[in-house]
Amino acid sequence: MSSRPVTPNEPTDGEQAAVDRVRTGEIVASPVELASILRHVGDGVTAQGPDGKMVYANDAAARLCGLESAEEMLALAGSELVERFEILGEDRQPFQVDELPNRRAFVSRSPEEAVLCYRLRPSGDERWSVVRSTPILTSDGRVQLVINVFRDITEERDAEARLHFLAEAGTLLSSSLDYEATLADLAGLLVPRIADYCIVDALDEDATLRQVVISHRDHERAELLRELRRRYPPEANEAHPVSQVLRSRKPYLVEDARDAALARAAVDEEHLALYQALGALSYIVVPLEARGRLLGTISLGTGESGRRFGAADLELAHEIARRAALAIDNALLFQSAQESYAQLDTMLRSAPVGIGFWDRDLRFVRVNDALAALNKLSPQQHIGKTLGEVIPTLAPALEPLYRQVLESGEPVVHTESTDDAALHIGEQRHWLSSYYPVRGADDETIGVGGLIMEITDRKRADDRLHLLAEAGELFSTSLDRDEIAARIAQVAVPRLADSCNVYVVSADRLERIACVNNDPRLQPLLESLPASFALEGAGTGMLAKVFDTREPVLFSTITAEYLDELDRLGTDSATIDALGTRSLMLLPIAARGQSLGVLTLGSRQPERFDEHDLDLAQELARRAAVAIDSAQLFRAVESRAQAAQALEFVGDGVFLVGRDGVVRLWNPAASRITGLAESAVAGAAVAEALADWPLDLAGERPQTFPVDGPDGELWLSLTAAEFTQGTVYAFRDLTEERAVEQLRSDFVSTVSHELRTPLAAIYGAAMTLRRDDVVLGAEQHEGMLAVIAGESERLARIVNDILLASRLDSGAAAFDLGPADATEIARAVLAAAETHLPAGIELVLTAPAQDVQVAADPDGLRQVLVNLVENAVKYSPEGGRVELELEPGEGRVRLAVRDRGLGIPAAEHERIFEKFYRLDPNLSRGVGGTGLGLYICREIVRRMGGRIRVESERGRGSTFSFDLPLALPGE
Ligand code: ADP
Repeated sequence: MSSRPVTPNEPTDGEQAAVDRVRTGEIVASPVELASILRHVGDGVTAQGPDGKMVYANDAAARLCGLESAEEMLALAGSELVERFEILGEDRQPFQVDELPNRRAFVSRSPEEAVLCYRLRPSGDERWSVVRSTPILTSDGRVQLVINVFRDITEERDAEARLHFLAEAGTLLSSSLDYEATLADLAGLLVPRIADYCIVDALDEDATLRQVVISHRDHERAELLRELRRRYPPEANEAHPVSQVLRSRKPYLVEDARDAALARAAVDEEHLALYQALGALSYIVVPLEARGRLLGTISLGTGESGRRFGAADLELAHEIARRAALAIDNALLFQSAQESYAQLDTMLRSAPVGIGFWDRDLRFVRVNDALAALNKLSPQQHIGKTLGEVIPTLAPALEPLYRQVLESGEPVVHTESTDDAALHIGEQRHWLSSYYPVRGADDETIGVGGLIMEITDRKRADDRLHLLAEAGELFSTSLDRDEIAARIAQVAVPRLADSCNVYVVSADRLERIACVNNDPRLQPLLESLPASFALEGAGTGMLAKVFDTREPVLFSTITAEYLDELDRLGTDSATIDALGTRSLMLLPIAARGQSLGVLTLGSRQPERFDEHDLDLAQELARRAAVAIDSAQLFRAVESRAQAAQALEFVGDGVFLVGRDGVVRLWNPAASRITGLAESAVAGAAVAEALADWPLDLAGERPQTFPVDGPDGELWLSLTAAEFTQGTVYAFRDLTEERAVEQLRSDFVSTVSHELRTPLAAIYGAAMTLRRDDVVLGAEQHEGMLAVIAGESERLARIVNDILLASRLDSGAAAFDLGPADATEIARAVLAAAETHLPAGIELVLTAPAQDVQVAADPDGLRQVLVNLVENAVKYSPEGGRVELELEPGEGRVRLAVRDRGLGIPAAEHERIFEKFYRLDPNLSRGVGGTGLGLYICREIVRRMGGRIRVESERGRGSTFSFDLPLALPGE
């Protein structure tokens, strides 16, 4: 529809001056000048004579009629000229010729004006002109000439039309929210007025391109266009203008598509052929973009109309696209609002929360399924009724709330309500509700909305958690099994059950350790029931089964079979009847995969327990089990700790070897005896740590064996006992006993030797005396008798020593601590010793001038001094002086026997006083003895209130000494 402005030829300077003069009113020029002026003005000018015949036309007028020049125009006959165009009025209706301003001017004889549209034939180009016809009258008032001036207003009209079009499009776009229908309408508006065809492509959410509208003024070509689109969709072709616009979001104009542009857009020959068949001439693609969102494109094209799009069309199309996009976006928004409204409505209906609306009269206006279900009615049963009519019991509590909301206009949020009829967990129901004012358009409260949520499950879960938490706390604070059982009952009754029994395993029976009934009158009955059930054999029942399988049993209502079983197990059915338990749970008490017992929970209400209660009870039993297990473990650990403590202190070495051969325990005594530290043995393989030990031979009977000890050889006696986890060994150090044993056996040989020697001598002498064949001289005879007497004495001494030692041992020896003359006794002892003194020994007595009186048994003292002097002599094989010294001190006298003999190693100073103890024969130079002498000395001195000791060094002689109290004067 674009029309190019009429541009006159450039005027010459002279002409321009003339024109300017006319414009400024410096009229009037010569006819030549005038003609020149008229030739160059932009407006078309024609002149008609009185007969209507055109007598003048300028070039501009000719061009307006699609002719080349004024001459050509003037040469045409009037009818020819008229046929060149179709004249339309402003309203685009065919114009009545009489109404043309020039015709009217002839009649009215005054200037006439009109806006005309004329469509040029054959191009169809539309032009608009304001035609002003001015009659030139003769002096007598006749019309001599009519001057028509055509001012081309096509462009203004076009701009106006665009505006008009935009307005129209705007109205159209805003008229509906069905955007696909609207786009189709828009296409109808665009074709054919603006374009020959129109395509709208929508870019869907998932970025796919969807052809929403294809409209063509020509049906056949519409088909062709569809075919073209089908075969060569824009999305498959990056060079396609639609693809380009989708990428760039910029409008796209091809003014002349006939050659290069089409070739560029075409994918192949066939594509190009289709384009050409379409007769495309010019096209526009504009983006549909709203609120920054790309929604698609609008493509407009021309072909058969021969119209070519220009910048103004592009601008118009872009503006339309902007409006369309906004409309589409609005439509989409509306659609999603619609959808969300629909969703809301669905939500309201199917929400798991009860939702209701009440009007100002507090009648139900709307009730969703959930609320209806809460009330155990259908939604329809609510509508139009008040709460009082629907659920009379709830009305007193809730209606004041609704009224409060209505009156205050303020919401009431989160009101908790509970039906208090029930006492036990699992029976009460709880609700949480909020009520809010519903306001109408004028902001007035028109009713009350409510959200009601049943929170029974949550409350129940809370209660259960609470109960379990309390149980956990109660159970964990005791380490006493029976106390824990009592606490289980305390937690369970009455909240969970009416009665509760706790049984624990003991040997092969389940023993009841707690039972509680919430009704004190029934407590004795409960207690009268059997308190123990067998776990094996014929008498077992459901309890034993629960114990064995660790699976709980739920009797929502107790079965006849179970009652029969109770009867069979010796439960009095009358008692059971009286207790009235109807619903029962039997729960295993098990921890760490081991059954510890069974918990039973009973209720007098049938159907009282369900799976939820069973879960809770099981959880309770689990916690109880952990607590009981802990208590038992604690007990075991405690006794083990005591045992371990005892092992710390026993004198016997104790160690434990696990089945795996590893030493588990090595007590301090074991370390002390063997010198093997606990760290070296415990945890080590016994075969390595105690390699030499004859562990295999050890059993109940002690096994005695030598091992290397810290101070030489050790003799150990080992016993062993098997237990489930290994073997426990105990051993004691027999080194000392063994030494004594050794001494004893040595004694036997010593004594027998000591006895045999004198006996042999006596026997030999006696036999010699008896012989008839040997004649003995008197001297020899005397000698034989002396041998017999001496050896008999020696024999007697040995026997006496043995007797004395055993009397001392048995306490039979009695000592009289009366005054004794120590000097006198010492002198006598030495005198006796002199009688058989070996050569080289000198006996010396060192004593105060005055006799020393001591508080002592004289025989005992003599015996001691005899033994000491004898030893001093005996163990001085090289000879030397033996002194007997009496050295009085403060209230006492010290008696000492000193020799210069063999001496005694320091290590033996204590032991020489032990019974039968004799020094190594080598150290004693093979001197005979019984090992009783010093023992006797020590015991006698001790009984006389003193203590014997020795100072000695090997090879330097010995001094044996002891103190005795001085006898008090007058004693
Ligand atoms: P025995 O009969 O062997 O003499 P005793 O009890 O009298 O028994 O002495 C014990 C041991 O003490 C003796 O075997 C000896 O080795 C040692 N003994 C005792 N008296 C002396 C001494 N005066 N000098 C050296 N050794 C002695």
